[in-house]
Amino acid sequence: MQTPYYLIDKSRLLPNMEKIAWLRAQSGAKSLLALKCFATWSVFDIMSEYMDGTTSSSLFEVKLGREKFPGETHAYSVAWAPHEIDEVLASSDKVIFNTVQQLQRFETASRGHMRGLRVNPGVSTSSFDLADPARPFSRLGEHDPEGIEPVAELISGFMFHNNCENADFDRFDAMLGLIEQRFGSLIRRMDWISLGGGIHFTGEGYPLDRLSERLKRFAGENEVQVYLEPGEAAITNSTTLEVTVLDTLYNGKNLAIVDSSIEAHMLDLLIYRESAKMNESGDKQWMICGKSCLAGDIFGEFRLPKDLEPGDRLSLQDAAGYTMVKKNWFNGVQMPAIAVRDLDGTERLVRGFTYDDFAAALS
Ligand SMILES: *Cc1c(COP(=O)(O)O)cnc(C)c1O
Repeated sequence: MQTPYYLIDKSRLLPNMEKIAWLRAQSGAKSLLALKCFATWSVFDIMSEYMDGTTSSSLFEVKLGREKFPGETHAYSVAWAPHEIDEVLASSDKVIFNTVQQLQRFETASRGHMRGLRVNPGVSTSSFDLADPARPFSRLGEHDPEGIEPVAELISGFMFHNNCENADFDRFDAMLGLIEQRFGSLIRRMDWISLGGGIHFTGEGYPLDRLSERLKRFAGENEVQVYLEPGEAAITNSTTLEVTVLDTLYNGKNLAIVDSSIEAHMLDLLIYRESAKMNESGDKQWMICGKSCLAGDIFGEFRLPKDLEPGDRLSLQDAAGYTMVKKNWFNGVQMPAIAVRDLDGTERLVRGFTYDDFAAALS
């Protein structure tokens, strides 16, 4: 198969799915895939066997969830436009409004539909200001119980999303305690509560049993159906970006240029100034660089078992979350194809991109 391509490995996806299904069986908490993190629908068949549906950030994600992922479709967006709302309702099981004003604006249009409101508890685990829902002056959800009280009759649930790659159960537990303290009497009037995404519960060593106990207790004490909205946790470590070295040079460091670009194909890493990951280990230090003309188009520096030369193949790890959904045509670099490795080990191409796709992205 011609590089570059993203390779989704079902045998690496499966352990995440099994943990999600276990959590549901033990705690009753349903899990909805957050499409903004991962929307490669070729593997939704296997994912939907373990997860309960999808949640979204926009009308198009709502439609994709309804069309491609069996189960429940939650429709959330930071703001719905008036021309979108009918289609949103037609394609969803629940609609979640970001503000009281949006709820009131679409109150008549959405009457009879299951409705929820995003609530911002004002605390979060994000270490990045850019991704912190509880940052000062945050627009993400209503924060004042007194402002929510008058519309509580109109809705049946709340969505909280304030965790971010949180691998610390005790921190999650403490924040849920704060949420109960501040919004408990409102929560007990609801039928369902979504606790959002950002809980790294599929990670190695995460105390799943304690999470399960906590979620079950929260659901029982408040008499609500709990939802989780895993994005990253659902697909973590399942996918690689397969690239080939095109050229090498030395400029104080060993540099290898590959047939991909961090700006175009792993943009999230560049935004958060993180390095790509590779499994290789050795003592040959190489900087892996993209082929766009951006000076800082660098995947990272790695210690490899041997010196690189043109034609060598490399696998960049963890290329599913916030990666495939953000790929773009910067520099006209060949868009990576998408391939799936089935459980029997066979790899198949599920999508290729051509010059026509590049040309069609603009006019
Ligand atoms: C981003 C987001 C998620 C998914 O977050 P992950 O960190 O990928 O698990 C879930 N719910 C909402 C509302 C989000 O904005």
